[in-house]
Amino acid sequence: MQVDKIEMGTVVDHIKAGKSAKIMRLLGIGEAYPHRVAIVLNVPSKKMGMKDIVKIEGKVVSQDAANLLALVSPGASVNIIKNGEIEKKFVVELPKEVNGMGRCPNPNCISLDSGKTSFRKDKENYRCHYCERLFPAEELV
Ligand SMILES: [Zn+2]
Repeated sequence: MQVDKIEMGTVVDHIKAGKSAKIMRLLGIGEAYPHRVAIVLNVPSKKMGMKDIVKIEGKVVSQDAANLLALVSPGASVNIIKNGEIEKKFVVELPKEVNGMGRCPNPNCISLDSGKTSFRKDKENYRCHYCERLFPAEELV
């Protein structure tokens, strides 16, 4: 499948197949986004079997924001495109802390009432600051 090159924006590659909708949500790309977005699903990949790719025109994602993507798709790679060229390329890494994002999966957690969230990475999981329970990364988003 051929997708037009973008002049300025972000390409997220090596997304676990089926996770691109969550990736878009984490990047804040919704119905109102005014520029071109290409989502390619189930692309054959030697390394992963199948992968998704998302190309977002007109939005440059910071490394901190991009690292949140590791919660749903560890190993995703991000290409920042400027003037039609790759300016920066990196693989997302699980953030040490997640603040003000996501939702505690514990239905009794007080953070659900306050709307505040704070999680700290503990090996491959995250611990909620409010109820101190440990959850797999993907359950936060
Ligand atoms: Zn909690």
